[in-house]
Amino acid sequence: MSIAEIRERIARAEKEAGRPEGSVRLIAVSKKQPEARVRAVLEEGHRLFGENRVQEAAAKWPAWREEFPGVELHLLGPLQTNKARQALGLFDAIHSLDRPKLAKTLARLAQETGRCPMLFVQVNTGEEPQKAGVPPADADAFIAECRALDLPVAGLMCIPPVEEEPALHFALLAKIAERNGLAELSMGMSADFEKAVSFGATYVRVGSAIFGAREYG
Ligand SMILES: *Cc1c(COP(=O)(O)O)cnc(C)c1O
Repeated sequence: MSIAEIRERIARAEKEAGRPEGSVRLIAVSKKQPEARVRAVLEEGHRLFGENRVQEAAAKWPAWREEFPGVELHLLGPLQTNKARQALGLFDAIHSLDRPKLAKTLARLAQETGRCPMLFVQVNTGEEPQKAGVPPADADAFIAECRALDLPVAGLMCIPPVEEEPALHFALLAKIAERNGLAELSMGMSADFEKAVSFGATYVRVGSAIFGAREYG
């Protein structure tokens, strides 16, 4: 599907939800995509992209940033503390802030460098053992801890369990954000981004619906 069609679907979902036009930003998730497909979307004029891994982003994006001014790059996947410094140089936002050790490292680096990406706390709404994110019951305390470190937490992010109805997870994330006074909600992927818009998403993360199936290996 073309990115223009995805944008149209988002606009329609905004309208149906009674939300202002343009209140949802589209992150084109370019992880593991052939270069030509990503380039085509850049040439079409899109500038907001998401990657899952620091190494992969470091290999691809510095050159594209030079060639296409205005690129905004978000890290969506887990971040190891030993890659935090590199991540700070590469990304405009991090959607996977999920533990005190990482919060402390980012706070220290932000102090040292005078800059910090936009931050989303990842919440493991399905409480899946294999998945990153703070459990919902710990979210308020962790957000408070980040704020005490002067970290600019902008919002929350979740990846609902594959087998479950995502609406419950989107609603839970929105509730946690609201009671913590957080404006941004990163939720919704190729299969469910319209539903996420109806639950208040401000960032949807769409990969395969734009670019096609990913290359694995
Ligand atoms: C890969 C990925 C996406 C995009 O998934 P699609 O189903 O291809 O849209 C969104 N968010 C995260 C965190 C991802 O890892």
